[in-house]
Amino acid sequence: MANADMVYNFSAGPAVLPKEVLQQAANEMLDWHGSGMSVMEMSHRGKEYMSIIEAALADVRALMNIPSNYKVLFLQGGAIAENAIIPMNLAALRSPAGKHEAGVADYINTGSWSTKSIKEAGRYCSVNVAASSADHKFSSIPARADWKLSRNAAYVHICSNETIDGVEYQYTPEVAADTDGAPLVADMSSHILSREVDVSQYGVIYGGAQKNIGPAGVTIVIVREDLLGHALPFCPSAFDWKIVADNDSMYNTPPTYAIYIAGLVFQWIKRQGGVAALEARNIAKAELLYGYLDSTDFYSNRIAADCRSRMNVPFFLRDEALNDTFLAGAKERGLLQLKGHKSVGGMRASIYNAMPIEGVQALVDYLKDFEQQHG
Ligand SMILES: *Cc1c(COP(=O)(O)O)cnc(C)c1O
Repeated sequence: MANADMVYNFSAGPAVLPKEVLQQAANEMLDWHGSGMSVMEMSHRGKEYMSIIEAALADVRALMNIPSNYKVLFLQGGAIAENAIIPMNLAALRSPAGKHEAGVADYINTGSWSTKSIKEAGRYCSVNVAASSADHKFSSIPARADWKLSRNAAYVHICSNETIDGVEYQYTPEVAADTDGAPLVADMSSHILSREVDVSQYGVIYGGAQKNIGPAGVTIVIVREDLLGHALPFCPSAFDWKIVADNDSMYNTPPTYAIYIAGLVFQWIKRQGGVAALEARNIAKAELLYGYLDSTDFYSNRIAADCRSRMNVPFFLRDEALNDTFLAGAKERGLLQLKGHKSVGGMRASIYNAMPIEGVQALVDYLKDFEQQHG
């Protein structure tokens, strides 16, 4: 197997982390800052760990410019658990049936992850699918003008980057006017911190960490304070955002080690120049890869140009019979985990924050060489 220095890992998640972060974690593994303990062994309420989680929170707030009327929560269960936790916390908002009754929530279906969110939410509230690109095989995002939002929606849910389908919103949809003020809720699992976002336009932003933030096991929820305190009576206490917020994400033991690594990633992003600097790099990486894919009909990407994901790039070989040969050759060059999601097929290159442009260049070089050999 190739030596780790020469490997580029294109996994969709859990995904590549910055080498510097892994090295620092390795150095601190047995004895964190002279404490005599590994971070894994610390009480979550002790002063050492409190300093770690407080720094992580302060850094992510600064990086995303999170307004002071928003809470940042660390939970468990991933974005998939949030698919249930969100309606349990929000579905009674603005419900005509009263404080403890779920109303209607609007969802925009743009791919596999939206579809999952919709299915799960339907167990807890009535769901209005206000727009869907399913008929276009999720290769585009329905135009905002065509969304059929509900006037009394509890909230409007989008998946702002569809990790599997490779579709990303390049703008923040305005939904308040059509809904009389419903908050926008976004699953940003796979592109959080990859681009600048105006948090104040959202009611809730959430995501699992294992794409762009850190290891699996911690879920980040950024929630506007007025949306706390509306949970349905059957919502588990550990998932009632108000209880979690009132306990500074320590109502139950938080995923301490995953938060620590996320904190190291936040510090790494600061050293890179912040989110704006990473966004500029992410644009350059995406242009390099899509530019090459578009330059030849040996490969194709099927997503509408105005909503192609900068993070997840699904692509196909013209001759799918070459797929296994392609993947084997990629692996030989240290280009790992390029196989597409089973529901889409083909290939997928995930090029998150921690993927350097050299990795994308190495992939493009391989694409060219492979085409020359087999085209
Ligand atoms: C990976 C992913 C999920 C699922 O996250 P889990 O941590 O497995 O629950 C949900 N939504 C999006 C957009 C994802 O990329």
